Amino acid sequence: MNTEIKQAILQKIKEYDRIIITRHFRPDGDAIGSTKGLQGILKCSFPEKEVYLLNEDSSEYLSFMGGESEPIPDEKYADALCIVLDTGNQERISNKKYTLCKELIKIDHHINISPYGDLSWVEDFRSSVCEMVAAFYAEFSQELKIDKEAATYLYAGIVTDSGRFRFNSVSGDTMRLAGLLLDQGIDTDVLFANLYLKEFELLKFEAYVYDKMCITENGVAYIYVDRAMQERFNLSLEDASSAVGYMDTIKGALCWIAFIEVPGEETTIRVRLRSRFVTINTIAENHHGGGHAHASGATVYSQEEMQQLIQEADARVKEYKETNEGWL
Ligand code: AMP
Repeated sequence: MNTEIKQAILQKIKEYDRIIITRHFRPDGDAIGSTKGLQGILKCSFPEKEVYLLNEDSSEYLSFMGGESEPIPDEKYADALCIVLDTGNQERISNKKYTLCKELIKIDHHINISPYGDLSWVEDFRSSVCEMVAAFYAEFSQELKIDKEAATYLYAGIVTDSGRFRFNSVSGDTMRLAGLLLDQGIDTDVLFANLYLKEFELLKFEAYVYDKMCITENGVAYIYVDRAMQERFNLSLEDASSAVGYMDTIKGALCWIAFIEVPGEETTIRVRLRSRFVTINTIAENHHGGGHAHASGATVYSQEEMQQLIQEADARVKEYKETNEGWL
């Protein structure tokens, strides 16, 4: 599937001596796993090439997977190939110097509303970009090499972006490719300990979220994580943002949303939207965001806009419930 574009990407990789890999800012497991996994595959397969992973922000999330490359001089970008992973639009690219590169490749699994790049490989049915990188490796396994470390990064990205193989984007292909990665000898005990263990304070925050969350008439659960709450539980922005995941098992709440006040930015409220059955990416698009049908991100700039978004989500869920059966 999409063999031609994959061949063209491999050809480009072969043509360049220097490759710069980047991702979206505020990285999640898929952004981190896919960039580190691809870097690992390219380093194993083409040891003579310079392969950098360069971004302008960093994250504590998945810090057990190690860091990224040290900055390089701007001149080195001019004859480099840039590969951008897991980033739907150019505004979200973490490394703004990507424009200095000679050529640009987009590899992504978001709905392709903002195409970019000299080459673009987008498969929005994929569970994750990590799955795509694994498929890329599988397609050219005669020529490409992978090691346990790179396989672990990709597996971690698939596991996190698919809700532990739970979301409906998981296909037989996801499982086959995950199997191929597991065959590299991934230590899943260590990986899952790193993914599941929580600090004591974070569990207290989780309990607080359950206490404070609200639900609308038609079934939108939401929580507003203000700065006071973040200070009280000593939360990083990532920790605060994880609140969205706590609300994913409420019967009848087909959509759940976390609003997170961004410290240091008075009026900026990060929004993380999740849903089952009903699609919510268009609601995110109404509020400076976008993403997937059932997992999107947005930003609102006032309490009024926050209420507006909640109302839009409530109306969407209402309409869905009135016109569909079998939802839970
Ligand atoms: P998040 O809640 O930030 O994890 O975002 C969920 C999904 O939506 C991720 O796949 C993001 O890449 C995507 N997303 C988040 N924010 C935006 C945005 N402003 N524009 C487009 N896509 C976004």
